[in-house]
Amino acid sequence: MGQFPAYRPRRLRESAVLRRMVSETRLSAAQLVLPLFVRSGRKVRRPIQAMPGVFQLSPDELVREAAGAHKAGVPAVLSFGIPDKKDDKASGAYDRKGVVQQAVRLLKKEIPGLLVITDVCLCEYMDHGHCGIVRQDKTGVRILNDPTLKLLARSAASHVEAGADIVAPSDMMDGRVRAIREQLDSLGFTGTPIMSYAAKFASAFYGPFREAAESTPRFGDRRSYQMDPANAMEALREVALDIQEGADIILVKPALAYLDIVHRVKQEFGYPTAAYAVSAEYSMVKAAAARGWIDERAVTLESLLAMRRAGADVLITYAAVDAAKWLNEGK
Ligand SMILES: [Zn+2]
Repeated sequence: MGQFPAYRPRRLRESAVLRRMVSETRLSAAQLVLPLFVRSGRKVRRPIQAMPGVFQLSPDELVREAAGAHKAGVPAVLSFGIPDKKDDKASGAYDRKGVVQQAVRLLKKEIPGLLVITDVCLCEYMDHGHCGIVRQDKTGVRILNDPTLKLLARSAASHVEAGADIVAPSDMMDGRVRAIREQLDSLGFTGTPIMSYAAKFASAFYGPFREAAESTPRFGDRRSYQMDPANAMEALREVALDIQEGADIILVKPALAYLDIVHRVKQEFGYPTAAYAVSAEYSMVKAAAARGWIDERAVTLESLLAMRRAGADVLITYAAVDAAKWLNEGK
């Protein structure tokens, strides 16, 4: 490479036009996904304290929110359900008339151009709040892997039957992508992609989400199935497994504190990769911006750009609507 004074990197930073021309990373609203929380009822907009601007929505309000997002340029939503009743079989997760299934039907009818992704997990529907079936005995509490797979596959199938375009399993049970793929294929849904939360870490950054999804475990924690934040090589093995089982898009969660994982996953596998900027990533920006300590717009867009630079193609963020507006301004 060149050497000073013949080479002066500042030459190409002189004007905005030049900077844009040589910019290595592009951020576009086409990559954004907005997570939404749906609960039963009508005209319900229940604010989530720790996530200003985010609500639990009844299906009618969800459609309104999604329509606004779509109009702003957000192409996709990711829905989470909050059922009225929870039990130890997560019945609400695969109920044809469950909240997510209702919401998906309504979304596909009212906004056909919107890509609808559904989160597939059991924790919101389990009375104990864990992502799998629990066995409790004298030796303690265990989250059972293989019996959980059937329920996950059933849930995914019920979402796709309702019209979901993509299913996104987030439970971190071993073998769930295969179980879901086989179930979907057996029902003729061979064309429905799976976006797998392949590397989902047991992170403290999920704090505000637990309030949003009402899914805090009543006992124990999720470290027997979600990944240890210390492990990167293991994340690559998780991704390799999910790809072998039929995952189409690989998701890394959380985003900012795990950009090394995003980068390595993209480098190693070259698969479409998603980064999920989780609740605390959003709440921290909101809280600091409310105090005037940071520029919300600049910090949000820089964070999303960093996820892109690391290798993410799909950006899941609670700030999707604002980001889309900011990105499309002046276009
Ligand atoms: Zn879960």
